[in-house]
Amino acid sequence: MSLDATHDPSARSWVPGADGHPDFPVTNLPLCLFSVDGCIPRAGVAIGDQVADLPALLAAGLLASLDEAVGELLQERLNEFLALGRDARVALRHALFALLTDPAARPHVAPHLRPMADVSFHVPCEIGDYTDFYAGIHHARRVGALFRPDTPLLPNYRHVPIGYHGRASSVVISGTPVRRPMGQLAGPDGPVFAPSARLDHELELGIWVGPGNALGTPVPVGEAADHIAGFCLLNDWSARDIQAWEYQPLGPFLAKNFATTVSPFLVTPEALAPFRAPAMARGAEDPAPLPYLLDPADQREGGLDLVVEAHLDTAAMRAAGLPPVRISRGTARDLWWTPAQMLAHHASGGCNLRPGDLLGSGTISGEAADSAGSLLELTEGGRRPLSLPGGETRIFLADGDRVTLVARAKRDGLRLGFGACAGEVVG
Ligand code: CA
Repeated sequence: MSLDATHDPSARSWVPGADGHPDFPVTNLPLCLFSVDGCIPRAGVAIGDQVADLPALLAAGLLASLDEAVGELLQERLNEFLALGRDARVALRHALFALLTDPAARPHVAPHLRPMADVSFHVPCEIGDYTDFYAGIHHARRVGALFRPDTPLLPNYRHVPIGYHGRASSVVISGTPVRRPMGQLAGPDGPVFAPSARLDHELELGIWVGPGNALGTPVPVGEAADHIAGFCLLNDWSARDIQAWEYQPLGPFLAKNFATTVSPFLVTPEALAPFRAPAMARGAEDPAPLPYLLDPADQREGGLDLVVEAHLDTAAMRAAGLPPVRISRGTARDLWWTPAQMLAHHASGGCNLRPGDLLGSGTISGEAADSAGSLLELTEGGRRPLSLPGGETRIFLADGDRVTLVARAKRDGLRLGFGACAGEVVG
């Protein structure tokens, strides 16, 4: 991961509020898909509290260093642009960085910036397939302990990336209300069909696939990073009571297919280059990854040094003017597998990944009790209620509760964030 002038911590933008912005300084430049007044969605890039309209900049001849054909790929969805891979992203990043740091460009570019408050964001890609991994080892261990105190981690866990094929059609953009699902729940007199009473969030990273691979052609782990176009936050909403009754023998089904929320901004591997970290350290008793999952560069810098948080506010808190309360704080370094290992494993049997496919990392939890990325863990399976400002308590989510996920990175004078991934539960 090489750094260049676009990672200079002293870089300054003429866009008001961009310098020192907690999420979107000029060194980030994440992609998004947005629309204005119900028009066709188009590609944008976040800078400060504004969105740069990419098709408009291209039409105005302000991104002339980019291939003309690229402009046609920046409308309606980002799949085709992401399929172009790293070189296209880097060319766009450098062209935008030049425009947004050059005061002389301001009169030409400023008319094509829009306040985020004035636009609607959309899921950036048409998602062909969505797969959710289970790489948060502390989450796996803690949840396992609730069900199997003697063997919290099953014997396969440290050897093979665990995951399940999820549902792409119900992936929604941040801000979309999440309807409490009905489902089969176990009861003393047999199952009943009722609203879930144990609705939970899961704090995860999302991984957007760029260039795909042909059916039957695995992706070597050393090349897997080239297939990753970017990252977002992902909330894998989970109905624990539906899950407990349905999950054997084939795993999650309706407990997790009613909604998955993603944040709007696709933070690129280029923006994250300064914040790479080694793969999670393994103890002497832990198995080494099998050769098809082992690449020296990936072990050295395939992880991400990101702080991730979940915040909660309830209808009563909002009515009382209380701000959201942070309920967990963890780090993406607590993922047992790197994103490249997850992608390489997914394709290892010949499964084809396609541009715009979405992978979830699995719930990110730390070892500490307050770093757990789900209520299931924070309340120890519902046994220890969470106390909230204003005097309320929660074991699982109530109608009107809003969960907001955030992620931030900070190193060597550089910082960036992912923007919010929020959803409110409605009955
Ligand atoms: Ca999950």
